[in-house]
Amino acid sequence: MPRGQSTVGRVMAQVAMVMNLDKCIGCHTCSVTCKQTWTNRTGVEYAWFNNVETKPGIGYPRRYEDQEKWKGGWTLDRRGRLVLRSGGRVRRLLSLFSNPDLPVIEDYYEPVTYDYDNLVSAPAGPDLPVARPRSVLTGRPADITWGANWEDGLGGAPEHAGGDPNLSGEWAEKVRFEFEQTFLFHLPRLCEHCLNPACVSACPSGAMYKRVEDGIVLVDQDRCRGWRMCVTACPYKKVYVNHATGKAEKCTFCFPRIEAGRPTVCSETCVGRLRYLGLLLYDADRVGEAAATPDEQDLLDAQRGVFLDPRDPEVVAAARASGIPEDWLGAARRSPVYDLVARYRVALPLHPEYRTLPMVWYVPPLSPVLDAVSVAGGDQDDPDHVFAAVTRLRIPLEYLASLFTAGDTDVVGGVLMKLTALRSYMRAVSLGEAGDEAALGAVGLTGADARDLHRLLAVAKYADRYVVPAAHKEDAAALGAVESGCPVESAGGKVALGMPTLRRTPSEGSA
Ligand code: SF4
Ligand code: SF4
Repeated sequence: MPRGQSTVGRVMAQVAMVMNLDKCIGCHTCSVTCKQTWTNRTGVEYAWFNNVETKPGIGYPRRYEDQEKWKGGWTLDRRGRLVLRSGGRVRRLLSLFSNPDLPVIEDYYEPVTYDYDNLVSAPAGPDLPVARPRSVLTGRPADITWGANWEDGLGGAPEHAGGDPNLSGEWAEKVRFEFEQTFLFHLPRLCEHCLNPACVSACPSGAMYKRVEDGIVLVDQDRCRGWRMCVTACPYKKVYVNHATGKAEKCTFCFPRIEAGRPTVCSETCVGRLRYLGLLLYDADRVGEAAATPDEQDLLDAQRGVFLDPRDPEVVAAARASGIPEDWLGAARRSPVYDLVARYRVALPLHPEYRTLPMVWYVPPLSPVLDAVSVAGGDQDDPDHVFAAVTRLRIPLEYLASLFTAGDTDVVGGVLMKLTALRSYMRAVSLGEAGDEAALGAVGLTGADARDLHRLLAVAKYADRYVVPAAHKEDAAALGAVESGCPVESAGGKVALGMPTLRRTPSEGSA
């Protein structure tokens, strides 16, 4: 169908991720295997493309969520136009040589190695030799006082967790860090491969780019001049400077594996089997408008509104017209990410208020609800008990809302209730009883939905969790033809919205 007759604009496809936080056990396998693959090199010792944080906590780098301090992401100017929080082009150019909004190594941590040689070369003496820590940056003896997962399992509370930027409302007084009152969950993080990536728009050298064919955001190492504007602009602080090369590096979404139809390393090795990879089709013409949605709490729906139903014949026709290959359309129809994000709406984006339209989404943890029911002597399988508990969690609903819905507690509460109804229904079914269809209906699910969602969330096999079509390199040039119409003028100069710098398959030097 010619585009003029369709209500669907320019269709693009992105490989996206969902993580089910209830299943994360905080084992850090994802972080370690990612590090072994991508950052086990001189210059990026301190960099964790994937890290796992304990929440509440201040995270890595410290308090990265405090955008008043770090100036990451986008904001709206007085005329409602999207502008980088780090300022327009002039301001950014003026801070090229002195950028106050840049984390320093102490905000991450000083990487250390150990003086292993001393174990075998120390002279004989009355005491056993020890391997003292040494900074890998200076070679000098180092005190280990902080690390990328220093707060692991609430190890940093109550000393540090109170500094979590999400604990900023009056309700935060409800959060207790005494041992018997604490609660934690793990938050694995990687680059969000955003639809509206601030890092790309901030780069003065045009080195950061978002791939046309699958939406992966990369750094062209040949073009990078080390200006570090991307580090400031990324609100998730997921761009790192290699101190040996002076260039930016970031999560590559394991693009060589994705191109071969394989999951990312962090997904492949995830012990909790909580990661999902799949395609999302979206209307590229509506990205800028969605990111500029005036009310922060409407950004979630605005971003969902950009995603397209891969089963809709009009979408399929528009996708074909945009050059999306047939096997990719089939993969989009089987995408677990589309089901969790858009069909069942149980996955939520991390900090939608940053306006980058992140593409790694999270199913929020139900565990705090169930713990609250148990402590109150209630029945975890009784929806009435659990629904009531949702509103009086030890970690207030406001905290989860601060992470995932720009403070909208109704939306997070609604997702938790949906998961609760699902759990209750499937427990009854698995015991051979009739499930409570009315409770399901109250949260917008049918019995068939519940079985499908249970299959996805509880017992999904490898092939259900990772639906990644292999790359079509032969089509990359044709898809790249859309590049000419993409950049949009914005306040502060030529800052592009939506899909700022779309480029074809990267050169070998991308990271
Ligand atoms: S999360 Fe990734 S794509 Fe988004 S702004 Fe940061 S580095 Fe760029
Ligand atoms: S490997 Fe999986 S379960 Fe382990 S910390 Fe990473 S995301 Fe969580």
